[in-house]
Amino acid sequence: MLIIFLYLRGEINILAAIFDGNGRLSLKERSKPTLQNNLDVLIKVNAVGICGTDLHILKVPAAHTAAIGAILGHEFTGEIVEVGKHV
Ligand SMILES: [Zn+2]
Repeated sequence: MLIIFLYLRGEINILAAIFDGNGRLSLKERSKPTLQNNLDVLIKVNAVGICGTDLHILKVPAAHTAAIGAILGHEFTGEIVEVGKHV
């Protein structure tokens, strides 16, 4: 599992692109993720983009399914800041 975050204020919160359903996307604060298992990597994102999958999710009607509340944007570059002990 890969955890992606973008610092908003120090290391407290992140700013995430949230799928709100029916073609809607919004930026909302979320808590900074933490490592959940030994294979996780925590990355401080420098830049992120959307891809074809995201566009299909946002198309009306949707051409790809996603849960409401899903964080979109998985095309990114960043700096590894924490790793699980098996990485
Ligand atoms: Zn993609």
